[in-house]
Amino acid sequence: MDRNIIKALDLPAFEKGLVWLVGAGPGDPGLITALGLMALREADYILYDALVDERLLKLARKGAGLIFAGKRAGVTSCKQSDISNLLIDLAREGHRVLRLKGGDPFTFGRGGEEAGALAKARVPFRIVPGITAGIGGLAYAGIPVTHRDTNHAVTFITGHGADGKLPRLDWQAVGKGSETLVFYMARKYAGEIADVLIAAGRKQDEPAAIVANAARADQNVIVTTLAGLGKAAEKSSPLSIIVVGENVRLRKELDWLGKTAVLFSPA
Ligand code: SAH
Repeated sequence: MDRNIIKALDLPAFEKGLVWLVGAGPGDPGLITALGLMALREADYILYDALVDERLLKLARKGAGLIFAGKRAGVTSCKQSDISNLLIDLAREGHRVLRLKGGDPFTFGRGGEEAGALAKARVPFRIVPGITAGIGGLAYAGIPVTHRDTNHAVTFITGHGADGKLPRLDWQAVGKGSETLVFYMARKYAGEIADVLIAAGRKQDEPAAIVANAARADQNVIVTTLAGLGKAAEKSSPLSIIVVGENVRLRKELDWLGKTAVLFSPA
């Protein structure tokens, strides 16, 4: 990267034998941070996820080792322990190792597990946060994650527990806890989620949106209601963020990207 930028921003050196766990942001490669960009240019090895845009990988320096470490079409091609062990081995060999993940590494990204393995192995590491899909993806759909007129709190929830089922949360409390709820990995259980939220007292006609392939060329936004969520999710692509709350209405005015919302009326 441009030495002037490194100097002006006081970016730290990417030392040999270190692992940097970096978030690439939700899609648009321009959303990577300056630290992330510098790491990309300097890394000896880059272990990347399926969610990482290929244009970013083209910025790797000549001769850098590019290793795919993620899931494709829901199939895990790499075990989590294999990825952690590879990070440890490459760092111990004295390489600069970049672990590049979609969104933010510590937000539903298993970054904590990889960092934990590094800590246990006494391999030094740095965390470079990224823009998470639940915030940046919504912004690309013209939906502010918080807004004074609509919500004072927001809850981030995974629709997919470690056992692959809807997580066992206190859904009554979740429904009452904050005005805006943002779900990751929730498409499969969207209908079930809507049911438990309605049972928890949320209104059937509360606005909801499914932001699919956010910040990508094929971004698609479906605006619906809580009652219509399950049906709408069936039509959406698998990579999607679901948001429930009055802040969804702001999209009407704030959809700066200008994509047309597909409107579903509740069944
Ligand atoms: N660490 C990532 C999340 C990884 S979990 C982050 O901070 O964004 C994978 C889930 O993230 C997907 O199932 C989807 O719900 C969401 N996701 C990631 N990128 C997305 C995108 N570009 N558009 C919509 N959803 C996305």
